[in-house]
Amino acid sequence: MDDADYAQERMDKDHSALLAAVPRPVGRSAHFCMDCDERIPERRRQAYPGTQRCVSCQEDAERGR
Ligand SMILES: [Zn+2]
Repeated sequence: MDDADYAQERMDKDHSALLAAVPRPVGRSAHFCMDCDERIPERRRQAYPGTQRCVSCQEDAERGR
């Protein structure tokens, strides 16, 4: 292996580390709101991976109520 091959191998390893650091959606979306037990629409569950609340409860939570 010459110096060029060594440099290429190091670049590949750095690239893999970068890919591994990309954040992924956390957890699974709930089917029902944790606050009011309202059914959470499928579109919302897919748009917000990991969501646990319906739209109105989420807005209340973000307002700090
Ligand atoms: Zn709710």
